[in-house]
Amino acid sequence: MQDTLQTDILVIGSGLAGLAAAWNAAQRGCQVTLLTRASNPTESNTDRAQGGIIYRAPEESPEQLVADILSVGGGLSSPEAARLLSREGPRLVKEILIDELGVPFDFSTENPGQLDLTREAGHSLPRIIHHKDQSGSAIERAFLDRVRSRPNVKVIPHATAVDLLTVSHHSLEPTDVYRLLTCVGAYVLDQTTGKIFSLLAKETILATGGLGSVFLHTTNPPGARGDGIAMAYRAGARCMNMQYIQFHPTALLAPDGCFLISETVRGEGGRLVDRRGKEFMQRFHPDGSLAPRDIAARAIYQTMLESGEPCVYLDITHKPADQLRERFPGIYAVCMERGIDLTREPIPVVPAAHYSCGGIATDDCGRTTVGRLRAAGEVACTGLHGANRLASTSLLECLVWGTRAGAQAAEGIRRGDDFYFPKVADWRYEHEPADPALITQDWLTIQHTMWNYVGLIRSERRLNRAMRILRELDLEIARFYEKCEVSDSIIGLRNGILTAFLILEAAQQSRESRGGHYRIN
Ligand SMILES: Cc1cc2nc3c(=O)[nH]c(=O)nc-3n(C[C@H](O)[C@H](O)[C@H](O)COP(=O)(O)OP(=O)(O)OC[C@H]3O[C@@H](n4cnc5c(N)ncnc54)[C@H](O)[C@@H]3O)c2cc1C
Repeated sequence: MQDTLQTDILVIGSGLAGLAAAWNAAQRGCQVTLLTRASNPTESNTDRAQGGIIYRAPEESPEQLVADILSVGGGLSSPEAARLLSREGPRLVKEILIDELGVPFDFSTENPGQLDLTREAGHSLPRIIHHKDQSGSAIERAFLDRVRSRPNVKVIPHATAVDLLTVSHHSLEPTDVYRLLTCVGAYVLDQTTGKIFSLLAKETILATGGLGSVFLHTTNPPGARGDGIAMAYRAGARCMNMQYIQFHPTALLAPDGCFLISETVRGEGGRLVDRRGKEFMQRFHPDGSLAPRDIAARAIYQTMLESGEPCVYLDITHKPADQLRERFPGIYAVCMERGIDLTREPIPVVPAAHYSCGGIATDDCGRTTVGRLRAAGEVACTGLHGANRLASTSLLECLVWGTRAGAQAAEGIRRGDDFYFPKVADWRYEHEPADPALITQDWLTIQHTMWNYVGLIRSERRLNRAMRILRELDLEIARFYEKCEVSDSIIGLRNGILTAFLILEAAQQSRESRGGHYRIN
C-alpha cells in the first residue's frame, strides 16, 4: 500500500500563476499543497522574466490596453479575456505586488515618487513597471517568501506530478458524487526517494508553465517541457491554439543554453550581422536590424540555414563601453560569464522558442473541461494572446488568472460543495533502470525535429516529415516508459513527446500563416 496524502487544493507549479493561486486559496482558509519539480522553488519562467509587468499609464483607460492586445493577437485574441485582464490586472498589481508584497519596482528619475513606466513593442503607451532587468525574479522571490510564511500552505520541492488522477482512470470505487471526467489530485514522484504517492485534492490547479524545451533553442529553463499540457491532455482536457509559438529573435547562444538578449539592444542601435560582420537584415525588411520581432526571428533562421552557421551576431560595439555597461548590466554580466565582452565583440545569437500562446483551454476562472481541474499561467489558453502575445502581458495573465483560479476553487470548498476522496489505484512500479543515453538521444530527436520542421518556418513537407519521425519515436518512448523505473527525466520525456505532437498536429491542421504560426505552403 503506497502513501496517500490529502489536501483541499493542490497547486502544481511555483511560478507566478501557482503562487497567486496558492496565496488566494490560503487567504480563504483552505489547506494548500504547492508542488514543484525543481529543487529550488524559484526556478521557473517567472524567475527569468526581464522586461516587467503591465501596470497602467496615468489617465489610461482599460480600453487602450484591450485595443493593443487585440491588435497584436492576429485577430484571434478573445476580447472578453482582454477586457478581464485590463480591468482587473492593474488593480491586482497595486493590491498584491506593490502594497502587499512590496516588490521593489524601480522609480522614475524624472518624476520623483512615481513608478518608472516603460514602453515595449506593440504598446501604445508606456505602462510597464520593472525591477532593473530582473523583474520576474523580484516578483517570484517576494511572493514565494510570503506564500511560504502561511501555516496552511505546504510547499514541496523535488516533487514531480506524474499524472492527474481522474475518477474515470484511477478510482477503484466509482461514485455518483463525481462525474467520470473529474480530477481528484495527482500521482507525484518524490525525487528524493524515487517513490510515487497519491495526492488527493478537492481541487487541482495546474500552473506548470511553458514548453520551450521541446525546441532546440529556447529562452525557457530546461523544466519547461509541457508537463501540464501533457497531463491535462491525457486526463481528457481540451487543449487549443497549440501551433502559436512565439520565437524571440535574439538569444545568446552558449554551451549551457540560451539566455534572452532583450530587444532593447536592437532598439539602442545593435546591428544583426553575419560571421564576416556584414549586415543582412535589409534583404528582409526596410527597417533592417530594427525589423519587427517575428520578421527578425525568421530572417535570422533563414540566414543561418543558408550559411550553415550555428548563429548570427548582434553587434553593439560602436557604442561607448561605459554606456553599454550602465544600460545593460544583466546582459553584460551574463555575456562576461561566458567569455563575451559585448563592448568589444559581437554577441552570438539565435532565435529561440520563447512563449506558448496556446495551452489547456480555460474560462475566466481557469476552469478546464475536466471537473475540479483548473489551469492558470502559461500552461493555460485563456484566449488572451490569440495567435501572438503582446509583450509583458504574460506575467499579468498569471496574476489575474492565478488569483481567480485560487479564489474560485476555495469558494467552492468553503461553500461545502460535495467532495469525496475516492480510493485510487496504487502506482505500479517497474524496476528496469532507464538508459540515460536513450533519454538524451530521444530529447535531441524531439528538439531538432521540432526546431527544423515545426519551428519558425513551417511547410507541408517539413510537417509531414516531422510526423513520421515523432510517431515512431512516440512508440519507442511509450514502450520505454512502461518498462523503466520512473524518474523525473523519463516523466519529462514522455510529456515532451506528447506536447511536441500536439504542436505538430495543430500546425498541420492550420494552413494559414498567423501570428506565431508561419507556413510557406
Ligand atoms: C527569458 C524570459 C523573459 C520573459 N520576460 C517576460 C516579461 O518581461 N514580462 C512578461 O510578462 N513575461 C515575460 N516572460 C514570460 C513569463 O515569464 C512566463 O510566461 C510566466 O512567468 C509563466 O509563469 P507560470 O507561473 O505560468 O509558469 P512558470 O513560472 O514557468 O512556473 C512553472 C512551475 O511549474 C513547475 N513544474 C513544471 N512541471 C512540473 C511537474 N510535472 N510537477 C511539478 N512541478 C512542475 C516548475 O518547476 C515551476 O515551478 C518571459 C519569459 C522568459 C523565458
